[in-house]
Amino acid sequence: MEKGCIYCGESKDLSKSDIIPDALTNAKIINPNVCRVEHNNKFSDLFEDEVISKLAIITNELDIKSSKSKRYSSYEVKIKVAGVEYATKISSETELFGSNKKMRSVDGKYLIGQIDEIRKIKAANDTNINVVDINQIEIDKIVKIDLPVFFSQAMYRMVAKIAFEWYCLNNEVNNKINSFEPIIQFITNGTGNDLVTIVSNREVYDLINKTMDFGSHTLLAYVGKDNSVNVLVSLFGMAIYNIRICNSVIDECKNNVLFQNLTLDAKRIQFKFDTFEGFVNNLKDSFIEIEVGNRFTAMMPKDMTDTTLQYQLAYATNYPLFQSYLQCISEPDEKTISLIKKYMEEILQSSAITIRGLKRFVKEHFKSFDEEIILNPKGTNKKAMFMFYLLFIIGQSNGDIRNLLDLNKVLKEKFLGETISISDEVSFRLNDEIFATADYPYIILKGAREIDSWDYE
Ligand SMILES: [Zn+2]
Repeated sequence: MEKGCIYCGESKDLSKSDIIPDALTNAKIINPNVCRVEHNNKFSDLFEDEVISKLAIITNELDIKSSKSKRYSSYEVKIKVAGVEYATKISSETELFGSNKKMRSVDGKYLIGQIDEIRKIKAANDTNINVVDINQIEIDKIVKIDLPVFFSQAMYRMVAKIAFEWYCLNNEVNNKINSFEPIIQFITNGTGNDLVTIVSNREVYDLINKTMDFGSHTLLAYVGKDNSVNVLVSLFGMAIYNIRICNSVIDECKNNVLFQNLTLDAKRIQFKFDTFEGFVNNLKDSFIEIEVGNRFTAMMPKDMTDTTLQYQLAYATNYPLFQSYLQCISEPDEKTISLIKKYMEEILQSSAITIRGLKRFVKEHFKSFDEEIILNPKGTNKKAMFMFYLLFIIGQSNGDIRNLLDLNKVLKEKFLGETISISDEVSFRLNDEIFATADYPYIILKGAREIDSWDYE
């Protein structure tokens, strides 16, 4: 069969489509059968750009950088300094008071910036300049998060596009198939109802967030009780969508047990099987029974290096949930909004400790490595505080912590566990530990230099 676009069948000028827009993931996956102009380029303007810009704060916090623009996306922020509110757009907190940047207050009455820059203004003099030391005061930062975007037509079309291109890729579909007409119409024109719904079961969100890496995307195909083909798309573990790809299983697409997880450090975990029966038989075959004592038996994986087994088990045991118990809605309701909010908060308040994130933090805070940083004892940014704490313990280790592995080992001992959640209490404790050390600015600088010299893995 001649190759053609999976949307329109056009065989000329096929291009590689990023299944998940490049600005939303560090792990690229590609469908090579999408015509360039009509169905690759246009989707950006039609719905992708809108979603990307509204999720900017999320991708920024997760250290996801678009490879096209080579930078972290910027987001709108309001800050309050000495009772006055300012609005601006930043891509990093360190930009707030960057070199010659001046911000006008929301009421238009004040300007804020570095003192030398403000003095250059003609009308400025000692009677109308007010000096504030930003290291000694608390700065409130308010970021408005766009919740409606999760229920928007742009989002629904984007996740439909992701699900469809991914399903086609995994079934080696390389031309248009008529059975896909409804989903194609929805993606390209926005017409058709209820092909995309949002999952509202708490247990599905909990399952995804417990099983998958922090901040990762998960794609998963299953066949419904009514023989329909569906794909679940979990974005960052924060919002989970069900996309109905086709009303029934079709001959051209044999693989309907599909799974892929894309992590923040660009790892891809995946498996692919034809039918659920075939998948389960294979899974049973992957274990051997061993005797434990004389009354018990345990299951042991035959191949201990197979990292997909835990995901296969999760898929198998939750299949009935996907098939029969999914609660799917198309209009926002309170329960679903609170679920999305909960996991979004988790993302905004936690950090995955990655080389990328550490190096970025160092780069943004240490323009040169000969200036020490004095921390604000009243600072409220728990995430930044935690990052400084990491630099602090790296600096303190005198070269014993040489990579991410070493760092994680030390953290595990310090925090007695796998995940570290930075509550107010923990944050105060870290704060105290840092400020109790007289030469902490020197130690932190040492830690920053250390990280700067680390290699990407
Ligand atoms: Zn096309």
